[in-house]
Amino acid sequence: TCATPDDVLKAIKDDEVAMVDLRFTDLPGLWQHFSVPPSALAGDSFTEGVGFDGSSIRGFQEIQESDMLVVPDPTTAFLDPFSEAQTLVLICDLRDPVSGQPYGRDPRHIAHRAEVYLTSTAIGDTAYFGPELEYFVFNEVSYDQGANYGYYEVDAIEANWTARRTDGPSLGHKLRPKEGYFPVPPADVLQDVRTNMVLTLEAIGISVEAHHHEVATGGQGEIDMRFATLKRMADNVMIYKYVVKNVARERGMSATFMPKPLFGDNGSGMHVHQSLWKGERPLFAGDGYAGTSDLMRYYIGGLLRHAPALLAICAPTSNSYRRLVPGFEAPVNLGYSARNRSAACRIPMYSLSPKAKRVEFRCPDPACNPYLGFAAMLMAGLDGIKNRIDPGDPIDKNLYDLPPQERARIPSTPASLEQALDALERDHKFLLTGEVFTADVIETYLTYKRLHEVNEMRLRPHPYEFVLYYDV
Ligand code: GLN
Ligand code: MG
Ligand code: MG
Ligand code: MG
Repeated sequence: TCATPDDVLKAIKDDEVAMVDLRFTDLPGLWQHFSVPPSALAGDSFTEGVGFDGSSIRGFQEIQESDMLVVPDPTTAFLDPFSEAQTLVLICDLRDPVSGQPYGRDPRHIAHRAEVYLTSTAIGDTAYFGPELEYFVFNEVSYDQGANYGYYEVDAIEANWTARRTDGPSLGHKLRPKEGYFPVPPADVLQDVRTNMVLTLEAIGISVEAHHHEVATGGQGEIDMRFATLKRMADNVMIYKYVVKNVARERGMSATFMPKPLFGDNGSGMHVHQSLWKGERPLFAGDGYAGTSDLMRYYIGGLLRHAPALLAICAPTSNSYRRLVPGFEAPVNLGYSARNRSAACRIPMYSLSPKAKRVEFRCPDPACNPYLGFAAMLMAGLDGIKNRIDPGDPIDKNLYDLPPQERARIPSTPASLEQALDALERDHKFLLTGEVFTADVIETYLTYKRLHEVNEMRLRPHPYEFVLYYDV
């Protein structure tokens, strides 16, 4: 682990580094990179930055103003486990060379601003985040056959169901839909793959608490990292996705974080556990409902009040809204509960220690840009605290089982990306507080998502429309 530029330069010598890879995150949330040989990196690269053309990066600069700088953060250095030549990775901040200021659309800068804002409120000084990212691993054989994107697995599910219905031939003891949680091998075919992912993460310095198969049929997995501070955890999420995808790739498979790849089975969520601290004092512990403090309930009030707008950032794809439907352990109702996994906010009861008191927001999915998502959730929670937003009574019944009239009173998650973007357009003042998000970044985000995703989806005939309408 490095702390200063000199530590990095020393590590480059000691570890015989052949290439330095500079990375940053684009607006939708993918890691981008370019590499420089060690000879091109000096102590002042960490203050002056290294130039690149930002014009083709999604959500960034116009072509006429495209020169940008990356400024490496020495505390993020790690050796790339997947490169042939010894490669040192540095996660970077972005700077505008003309103004000399941090770049306002840099997601990592927004995460930084959120942490600065938290401290400035005097409510607390640290926010901890613990995301649980789920993902699918598919056999890449489907690539070779020119039919990827999960169709191969969907065929398998439908074949399995048919086999069960008709007593036809066995198709090899595949896990049935929704039965992946969590029998031992040979039903779990990905144990060694996940172990390898975890060992790789730990070698990079990311602590892991557990890994397991998830509920969906053969291929869905989850690895849980130990909680960390906001920006650090967003860095860890980027590393996590990189490791999961590349370990799968090395074994001839492909991993995806798209939220709902398979019809009729669970999707992939990114539940996000969060808590606030002041020094050594956990601010969420108290003697209210389920051991919560007033402050924690106001934080939940803020998450729930702003949830429709938050989801434009935390469940940011058209596919996300195929996950947020009843019946697949994804929340649809915007309530909270200690017992109930069908509520958008859950208060886990694994431990009664005040230090473990936290809220789990279950709506986000792993397509979320973690820098923007964590920052936005913190801002919603802080808005709840400042305005004492009461989240109402907890909902301790299974929300899916409530009678329709009672359920109708509980607000629901948006039904589409389009609805979530409209909600963000109406409700984003809470994000601009403390100049954490800028009006420019909200506008750019809305335009990007509407133009490239909502509109593009609207233009295309959907495969299921052929089932419904071909013979009209
Ligand atoms: N896959 C579920 C989701 O979409 C969560 C399942 C679980 O972790 N209990 O959120
Ligand atoms: Mg979990
Ligand atoms: Mg899970
Ligand atoms: Mg969970």
